[in-house]
Amino acid sequence: MSNPSLLILPGDGIGPEVMTEVKRIIDWFGAKRDLAFDVEEDLVGGCAYDKHGTPLHDDTMAKALQVDAVLLGAVGGPKYDNLDFSVKPERGLLRLRKEMDLYSNLRPAQCFDALADFSSLKKDIVAGLDIMIVRELTSGVYFGEPRGIFEEGNERVGINTQRYTESEIDRVARSAFELARRRNNKVCSMEKANVMESGILWREVVQKVRDTDYPDVELTHMYADNGAMQLVRAPKQFDVIVTDNLFGDILSDCAAMLTGSLGMLPSASLGAPNADGRPKALYEPVHGSAPDIAGQGKANPIACILSFAMALRYSFDQGDEAARLEAAVEKVLADGVRTADLLGEEGVTPVSTTGMGDAILAALDASL
Ligand code: NAD
Repeated sequence: MSNPSLLILPGDGIGPEVMTEVKRIIDWFGAKRDLAFDVEEDLVGGCAYDKHGTPLHDDTMAKALQVDAVLLGAVGGPKYDNLDFSVKPERGLLRLRKEMDLYSNLRPAQCFDALADFSSLKKDIVAGLDIMIVRELTSGVYFGEPRGIFEEGNERVGINTQRYTESEIDRVARSAFELARRRNNKVCSMEKANVMESGILWREVVQKVRDTDYPDVELTHMYADNGAMQLVRAPKQFDVIVTDNLFGDILSDCAAMLTGSLGMLPSASLGAPNADGRPKALYEPVHGSAPDIAGQGKANPIACILSFAMALRYSFDQGDEAARLEAAVEKVLADGVRTADLLGEEGVTPVSTTGMGDAILAALDASL
């Protein structure tokens, strides 16, 4: 049987720096866990524009559609800020999401005990937090028609349309229920059914999917504004939250920052299952290309490393190996190893990007 395939797109700024550490970890799994990947590497974002005049070459797009998973670093940077909108680095990422039809965006909010002091909330409210927000990513008010700014009488009116079809709600709900089954079997669906018809439909369809195909999963419904309040009041009440594109955008940023630094946050975007049952998938850290620290060896590679852990779990059915990698990260943090973005305690000297990679590899060795 052939190895699982992975397309690596390091991108711009700190993207290549953090991805170098992920590549060392991928090699470790090949050498020490008999888990080898067929890895191809290519360009996305500004570096692709520099070489090809487009932020995502058609050949790269074709490869992304063929592999089992895509792992992306970050795109963008000041050098590209004045490019035409159509060739800006972010367009490469948007094209990947669109053509891979990645409708389910997974954003975990997990608080490592060693970093609980970094949260803006009290330690006992966030310590041990482990929730997953599933955001619908390809529909809703960001895409609905009509949209635009129109003349109406003697003033202008700005219009966006919240629009969801039953099938769009159905598929993202399934994605959330599948996920819940791998976790603590609980889903909370958030909308505003009290004031929005799209919310009424959302609630009905999510409930129907649950009753028909996932009766073993506990489902609750919550208005999204209450959800925001509950996330900062008592976030540990949740396991999986499923919500639409707009509410998910806001709630996932809010939940993620409960846990501290941007350099720690992974994400996954999943699409429809391929013929072999695996979803099309793109894994990437939440952070951008951090031009202010690029090239200085200061970037925290953990967000990108944890994105690879998500790939192990959700694309390659290697939940135990994902847990091994997550435990290695947790151990390194518990041992007090810190990149510059995680400094808080007095007298701690930060390690470099490579230093953090070294420490995680040593913890992986120690796990054997
Ligand atoms: P950013 O996430 O790049 O940086 C915000 C702040 O967080 C900076 O101070 C940065 O140094 C710090 N930071 C981010 N990641 C870090 C890490 N791994 N380790 C340590 N510190 C880290 O956001 P920004 O500054 O708003 O955007 C910079 C560029 O990145 C822009 O061109 C933007 O368009 C692009 N961007 C890309 C993505 C993506 O590729 N998915 C996402 C957001 C922004």
